[in-house]
Amino acid sequence: MAEHIGFIGVGRMGDPMVRNLLKAGFEVTVYDTNAAAAAAVGAKVADSPAAVASVAEVVIVSLPTPDVVRAVALQVAEGSKVKVFIDVSTTGPKMAVEVAGLLAAKGISAVDAPVTGGVGGAQKGTLAIMVGCPKDMLARITPILSALGKVFHLGENPGAGQLMKLANNLLSAAALAVTSEVMVMGVKGGLDANVMLDVINSGTGRNSASVDKFPKAILPRTFDFGFAIGLLLKDIRLCMHEAETLGVPMICGNAIKELLTITAMRQGYDADFTTIVKSVEEWAGVEVKGK
Ligand code: NAD
Repeated sequence: MAEHIGFIGVGRMGDPMVRNLLKAGFEVTVYDTNAAAAAAVGAKVADSPAAVASVAEVVIVSLPTPDVVRAVALQVAEGSKVKVFIDVSTTGPKMAVEVAGLLAAKGISAVDAPVTGGVGGAQKGTLAIMVGCPKDMLARITPILSALGKVFHLGENPGAGQLMKLANNLLSAAALAVTSEVMVMGVKGGLDANVMLDVINSGTGRNSASVDKFPKAILPRTFDFGFAIGLLLKDIRLCMHEAETLGVPMICGNAIKELLTITAMRQGYDADFTTIVKSVEEWAGVEVKGK
């Protein structure tokens, strides 16, 4: 019989992940504080994290912030069946270690398994999943996580996956920030935004913002790529904290953090992360529009 999986947090990322688990044949029970989101996903719905953890041995969480994950982990620990807690949110290595300690005391194994690939990757089941856990646990959870994307083992200790995720997201944010600056400069100087992207994507400037975010959400001015600027800012703050702890300079990283902070304050923390271009546009007095 197909394994029963618990899933808590069915937002932009969690919803398509649950749909892929169902498609792969797993039985899934979900919980979300947003009852409408829980009902919409098409799985069984429980009325608390503890109820989810009383029907499934493996509980996956996709939640906004480290504090929410810590609080939900403690509620999950009240469940009668749970043995494995997998956090696919971006919460940083420090929280992964803390949650692993809290849950180990209750006989539950914690796995950090943050993901990259965005809402599109979650829908297609092509996420890159960065796992930190012992090898025997990796074998236990790989059949489940494979329904969501490709599994990469970053190390045996809690937090290894989270460290990799922070590295990836700083790179992704850097691409978006600097591509915003060069696109605004070009348009202000009289270049066509579509032609600029064609050139960038045919040459050495090609990056995840020029390939995906600009054509899909910035040139059409829809700003609906699917990731809140407040959550990206959370990731970059976690990354700066980690770099400082490790004694690694982050000169560019800190500049990007400030640009994200300004954008979140001006556009609102729930605005899409592609609105970062607006911070540069407002200063320069031009808009980057498609044909
Ligand atoms: P989201 O805000 O769309 O979804 C979060 C969900 O959690 C919401 O449905 C919310 O109602 C629910 N929730 C909040 N508090 C809860 C609680 N106490 N108990 C149960 N449910 C609760 O966020 P998202 O974009 O899906 O991101 C989720 C996580 O994945 C974040 O850590 C984010 O950084 C990370 N992430 C997001 C993306 C992306 O492109 N959106 C990509 C990779 C990783």
